[in-house]
Amino acid sequence: MVQRKRVYRAASYASGYFRVNTTILLIEDNEQNRYLATFLLEHRGYRVVSAPDGSSGIECAFALLPDLILLDIQLPLMDGYAVAQALRANAKMDHTPIIAVTSYAMVGDREKCLEAGCNGYIEKPINPETFVTEIEGFLTAWGRRSG
Ligand code: MN
Repeated sequence: MVQRKRVYRAASYASGYFRVNTTILLIEDNEQNRYLATFLLEHRGYRVVSAPDGSSGIECAFALLPDLILLDIQLPLMDGYAVAQALRANAKMDHTPIIAVTSYAMVGDREKCLEAGCNGYIEKPINPETFVTEIEGFLTAWGRRSG
């Protein structure tokens, strides 16, 4: 049920045909970042659901089985690394790309994100010019790999 013709879909993101059926879960505590990311993705035709903290994000992830998860690393109580680990601990998330979004500039953070189970990394501040294109790159790459 989770896997829905991913190869065909990946080839079609650019055409826009599948965007309306593509759900992106955004786990982000900062309201301005949530607003900007949601605006950019919805404008492009994606369905966006957002959660303001790790535990509600995890709950949403298992309830929705989104096509991609955007995960802020700096979250209150439960940080993004812990969220990624909790998601990856469940086989239901085996086929869901998790992309870390973080302003951490320290060396080693990318590796830490990947070790926690993320598949990629987008740096903050969100660049409106490239944000959606970067995400579509991950959707396409993931579709080719797991389709
Ligand atoms: Mn944050």
